[in-house]
Amino acid sequence: MIKSRVEVDPVFGRSLVTNEPVKNGETVVEESPFALGPKQNSGIVCLACYRDLIFGEGGDSLDRCEKCDWPLCSACLDAPIHMEECEIFAKAKVHFAGNVSEEGVCTQLDCITPLRVLLAKEADPERWEREIAHMEHHNEERRKLSDVWNADFVNIAQYLRGPCRLADRFSEDLIMQVVGILEVNAFEARTTQGYGLRCLYPITGILAHNCVPNTFRTIHPSEGYKIRLRAMCDLDEGQQLQHSYTYTLNGTAQRQEDLKAGKFFTCQCERCKDPTELGTNFSTFKCSKCEDGWLLPADPLDSTCDWKCTLCTFKTSSNAIKKALSVMQSEVADIQAMEPSPQKLQETEKLMRKYRVVVHPFHFIQIGLRQNLIEMYGRVAEYELAELPDVMLEHKEELCRHVLRVLDVFEPGLSRTRAMMLYELHVPLVLLAKSGFIAGVVSADQLKRKLLDVIAILKESINILQYEDEETQEGQLCKVAQQAMEQLTQSVDGLTGDE
Ligand SMILES: [Zn+2]
Ligand SMILES: [Zn+2]
Ligand SMILES: [Zn+2]
Ligand SMILES: [Zn+2]
Repeated sequence: MIKSRVEVDPVFGRSLVTNEPVKNGETVVEESPFALGPKQNSGIVCLACYRDLIFGEGGDSLDRCEKCDWPLCSACLDAPIHMEECEIFAKAKVHFAGNVSEEGVCTQLDCITPLRVLLAKEADPERWEREIAHMEHHNEERRKLSDVWNADFVNIAQYLRGPCRLADRFSEDLIMQVVGILEVNAFEARTTQGYGLRCLYPITGILAHNCVPNTFRTIHPSEGYKIRLRAMCDLDEGQQLQHSYTYTLNGTAQRQEDLKAGKFFTCQCERCKDPTELGTNFSTFKCSKCEDGWLLPADPLDSTCDWKCTLCTFKTSSNAIKKALSVMQSEVADIQAMEPSPQKLQETEKLMRKYRVVVHPFHFIQIGLRQNLIEMYGRVAEYELAELPDVMLEHKEELCRHVLRVLDVFEPGLSRTRAMMLYELHVPLVLLAKSGFIAGVVSADQLKRKLLDVIAILKESINILQYEDEETQEGQLCKVAQQAMEQLTQSVDGLTGDE
C-alpha cells in the first residue's frame, strides 16, 4: 500500500485515508487480487480466458478440459488458474451439463469464483484473516432477498459441499460469507481481449463511496490484474479516499437505488443531498405550468417526496416524475438498440429536441443522448468525418463541451470519461481550424494558436490515459492520441517556419 493507511471509525467502520499530501495522478493503493474468476450471471465461458464458448444441445462442445470436462478453450488447456478446481471436479466426477437459461446464464459456473476464493483462503490463511475475513458481506440483508439467497445457497453452497465433495473443507456459513463478500466487494475487470471477469481486491474493497469520487482506478490485465488507485485531484494528508461504486453519470434516484441493491446503504454525500446535484441540474425537470421554472425534489434522499417548481406554486408527485422518466428511458433504449446508422443518429437528434421542453439541458437523459451522438458524428455512414460540413463539426464540438461541463463537476481531474471526451473534442477543432485557414477566414497566426489549444487538449487526455494498461482499449487510445499530438506539433512547427 502506498501513501494511505487504514483507519477504523466506530460508526463508519474501516476506511482508507492518505498518510501524506498526495498530488493528482499519484498512486494511493496498489494491490493484486486475492482471487478472480467468471462474472456473476455469466454464460458458458472458458474458465481461464473468459471468452464465450459455444455449447450445443446436451452440452456438446470441443472446448472442454481434457481432465475434468468443464469449459476450457483449446488455447488454455494447461492454464494454472484452472488446476486446483480441475482436480476437485475430476476427483468428484462432477459432470458439466452445459445448461444455459433463457437469459443466457449458466448457473453451474456460479460456484467457480467463490471456490477460487475458498482455495486461496486455504493456500494463504494469514492473508485471508488479515485482509478478507472482515470484509462486508451483508448476509443478513441478503438473506431477506430470499430468491437470490436460495439460488446461491443451492447452486454454490450445496453444490460445492454435495456433488463436489467439499463438505469437510468448507462450511455452509463460510461459503455464503464468501458469496456475500464477492457480491458486495468484487470489481469487474476485462481481459486484454475485452472479456469480462470479476476480481476481489481486499484494500480497494474497503474504500468509502462518494458520488463525486477523489480517486480513480485502473486494472492491469497484463500484470496479473493488479489494481492501481490514484488520486483524481490533489489531496491533503489525512483525507479520506473515496471511490464511486455506481455510474457517476446516473441521476441521484438511480444511483441511490443501485447503491441500496448492491451495497445496502443510502449515500449521504453532498451531491446526493443537493436537489440540483451540485448546480448541474442533472435530474431537473422543466415546470409544465410556467415559462422559466424548474422542478426539483423537495428531499432528494426520499424517493417518495413531491417535486416543486422553483418559480411558481406547481408541484407534482414523485410517481408522476418516475412515469415520465420511464417513458423517456424506454424511448431512449429503443433507439440505442438500433445498429449504428444515419437513421439512428437522426432519431437520437429528434429525441434530444423533443426532451428540450421536458427536462433541463443538463439532465442525465440529455447528457446520455449527447454522448451517443458524439460517438456517431464522424463514424456513421453519411456522417463520416470527411463529409461533415463545418456546422456539423461545430455541433459535435458543442456536444463535447456540454458533456465536459458536467464531468468537470462530477469527475473533476483525472477521469477516463473526461479523457475520452477530450479526445473526441480535438477532432472537430482541428478540422474547423484547417478549413477556416483554407477558406481564408483564419490567418496563419490564428491557425497556429488554435492548433496549440488542440495540443493542450490532447495533452490533458494523454495525461489521464497514460495510466491505463497498454493492452487495453484505453491504453491503445492513448497511443493514438500521442500520434495525433506529434503530428499536430509537426504542423505547428511547419507554420512557424513559414513566418
Ligand atoms: Zn481460454
Ligand atoms: Zn479441468
Ligand atoms: Zn452520493
Ligand atoms: Zn412553475
